[in-house]
Amino acid sequence: MTRTAIVTGAARGIGAATARRLAADGHAVAVVDLLEDQAAATAASIEADGGRAIAVGADVSDADAVASAVARVADELGAPTILVNNAGILRDNLLFKMSESDWDAVLNVHLRGAFLMSRAVQAHQVEAGWGRIVNLSSTSALGNRGQANYAAAKAGMQGFTKTLAIELGRYGVTANAVAPGFIETDMTRATAERVGVPFEDFLAAAAREIPVGRAGQPEDIAAAVSFFASEEAGFVSGQVLYVAGGPRA
Ligand code: NAP
Repeated sequence: MTRTAIVTGAARGIGAATARRLAADGHAVAVVDLLEDQAAATAASIEADGGRAIAVGADVSDADAVASAVARVADELGAPTILVNNAGILRDNLLFKMSESDWDAVLNVHLRGAFLMSRAVQAHQVEAGWGRIVNLSSTSALGNRGQANYAAAKAGMQGFTKTLAIELGRYGVTANAVAPGFIETDMTRATAERVGVPFEDFLAAAAREIPVGRAGQPEDIAAAVSFFASEEAGFVSGQVLYVAGGPRA
């Protein structure tokens, strides 16, 4: 069945691969990112492949922007019943050097963003009596040096997910989290730059630590999201799936 899906942070990386995958699964997709211009390339690639997509500019941590983005999606594509909370940022630093703005920025995008988007979209899901929410967590939820803010946000995503599963289950809505390990995107490229290691070396070092012997690709995560978003996953809710090439990182 064709549904309307919203993927946040879908201009690039995991979000873009997920938007393309959900479109290939037959859904109309709203590609949401900070700037509509940046989301436009993902939407255009979906349309070029015969899918249906629109680009929507919105900061997921801004309640007014979220309300208008969700209203626009409902108008132009139909009531959104699949939501992927993927938008994310890093502001890594050791605790003693971490500023309040680094803490707030990360918590705002990941947690406040997922809260605002889910609150807006659940109205459509409850009305439809069907919905799928997939939240992006991370192996960093288990703790990671230099990421006190990000680890707290990504662990928070798991508690948020389980609570949505409990509250929304009776309306036919499931909520699950995908927790990626090391995925080759601009986010990990930026981390390599920050620590002063060429990206190729950074990837090779990561691959040596990963049981399947390679870094993940955005499509590896998109496939897991696609399962949680599917019709047949209706009895799977409140789960966290680590997609990391091994048991955790
Ligand atoms: P990415 O390449 O940096 O893409 C993230 C996207 O989110 C960017 O397009 C970014 O827009 C957008 N974004 C940031 N703040 C936003 C906001 N306030 N509102 C709307 N969009 C916003 O990251 P990625 O590697 O694909 O990661 C996607 C998700 O997976 C994130 O939640 C991340 O934490 C998680 N994850 C990634 C990895 C990994 O190894 N890559 C591992 C575990 C979890 P701008 O470009 O304009 O900033």
